[in-house]
Amino acid sequence: MDTTQEFFGDVWHRFDRYDYDNGHIFPAAGAKLEAYRPWDAFGPPKGKDSRLNPYHSLLDLIRDIEWYNVIPPYKLPSGLIDKLLEWCSEHGLLGVLLHQLESMVLPDPSGNMHEGVRYVKTGASWQKRRRVQLIGETVYGAIVRRGLTDPELSLVSHQDPLITQFFPRLPPEDWKDLPLPFAADFWKVYSEPLVTFLSAAIEFRDGVQGSQLSRPIERMSEDDKMSWNRSMAKLRVLTSTVNTLLYPEHSTLRLGYVSGSLLGAFSMMATLDLSQRRVLRCPACRNSFTTKSQAALYCKKSCRKTMQMRRHRDPNRKGPA
Ligand SMILES: [Zn+2]
Repeated sequence: MDTTQEFFGDVWHRFDRYDYDNGHIFPAAGAKLEAYRPWDAFGPPKGKDSRLNPYHSLLDLIRDIEWYNVIPPYKLPSGLIDKLLEWCSEHGLLGVLLHQLESMVLPDPSGNMHEGVRYVKTGASWQKRRRVQLIGETVYGAIVRRGLTDPELSLVSHQDPLITQFFPRLPPEDWKDLPLPFAADFWKVYSEPLVTFLSAAIEFRDGVQGSQLSRPIERMSEDDKMSWNRSMAKLRVLTSTVNTLLYPEHSTLRLGYVSGSLLGAFSMMATLDLSQRRVLRCPACRNSFTTKSQAALYCKKSCRKTMQMRRHRDPNRKGPA
């Protein structure tokens, strides 16, 4: 069948440096590509201690960004782009295209009009199948989600901006040789538009923060219940590309997760944290954290002390005890 594959498993890729140019986040010239396992840094909190999991840094990165920042005229807080490039050198890009894309048929590189090359996402890998027979009219295109949290899959042209926005430096004549996702060559040509990155991060944040129950469900108003349901639906679609994975540890099998995008992995981590734990934002340092404690308000003791000091200086200050 002449099939090549790139396994993603629980691995993600990052360059050690990124640049921002013309609205896009690119790997910097000469930057080093590295594979890493985002799940290695994930875990439950121990006892009453709060815990920082990998996705918390994304929530913190965009805590001052709202939807109006990602529509023209794109007014962004100063210093955001530098912070974002630094964040990407630690975590990589979010993989928005890989989250939305299910499969794609590209023209055959040899120019044969009756054949195409199919890229297809399976459980834990991307596969390239050459010599796909195109019966009747030649149809090239991609099966994608039009929006990140769109539960429906649509067929679009492989040259739809939905796809091409991620490859602004790939000349049209090289499209037929687009590297298979997860191959080293793929990461060299893949970039994320800043607005797409931020919009994805906002969707993720809205899904996570809106899914947190602030009171028992039976005591919520109808409006609050509707908005909670909307957030839950967002998180559900964001995790829909995640699969389970059994991996060996000595003589037992453990349960893990595989996601074709960092966004999917983060969404699964947040889903696990929201189950029986709480994802909060500390009122002192404004960073997010996970806790098992029902009484916790602050991410650490020093933040509780900071707030006590602030209230001591200004007794009229409102806020948690
Ligand atoms: Zn704090």
